[in-house]
Amino acid sequence: MPTFETEAIVLRAIRFSEADSILSLLTFQRGRVSAIAKGARRPKSRLGGRLQPGVRVHLTLHEGRGDVHGIRGAALVEPNAGLWADSYRLLAASAVLETAMRALPEHEPSDGAYHLTTRALGLLARTSPRQRPPRLDPLVLGYRTKLLVAIGFLPQLSGCVSCGGDVASTAFSARLGGTLCDDCAGVADQVGHPVLAALRQLLGAPLADAEPMDQGVAEGVEHLIGEVLLEHLGVALKSAASR
Ligand SMILES: [Zn+2]
Repeated sequence: MPTFETEAIVLRAIRFSEADSILSLLTFQRGRVSAIAKGARRPKSRLGGRLQPGVRVHLTLHEGRGDVHGIRGAALVEPNAGLWADSYRLLAASAVLETAMRALPEHEPSDGAYHLTTRALGLLARTSPRQRPPRLDPLVLGYRTKLLVAIGFLPQLSGCVSCGGDVASTAFSARLGGTLCDDCAGVADQVGHPVLAALRQLLGAPLADAEPMDQGVAEGVEHLIGEVLLEHLGVALKSAASR
């Protein structure tokens, strides 16, 4: 059975049997994969402490017969220790990790998605609380917006996706793939200009420069991204508010 090496971000770790952990990993080489860390939860395990959510590691993985890889070795690349120093950071990071876990397909590597996730966690590990609740932190919303670009689901955010009109748009349809003019809006979701402006700002600026916004605008951005993920992937994020 082949063995390979890759850098990876731990997205989730679940207890399994007495001493093992099942990990969801975002790997640089193979995209999102599952792996079992045997003995990781034994007190003296050299693996265990390194394989926590949000941590970047260099892994030696063994391809098993099923879908779950085995972990043969792990070396820390970046612990992102700041994520555990503060509950705000931890909650915001959880929202990023959940988004990666549920929006990124298995076994489809994407340099863009990997580097974006790495960057978002690195920034969150040093950020100060600045927008309540933490799931609406501009880094979380900026991460999700840019992830839509990385996975090819970015909607059209100006003009009318239905008639091609260049007028100011007042509605949004995830199914049609973007904003709509008054005449074409029909039953589509009404969406305010500040929400669309905030989305364009998040898209255009580097992640580190994502700005806090009014709570209503942040909720509008979260909702719109949620609609796109639901439409394309059937995914409803648990870390986002449901309406
Ligand atoms: Zn139209």
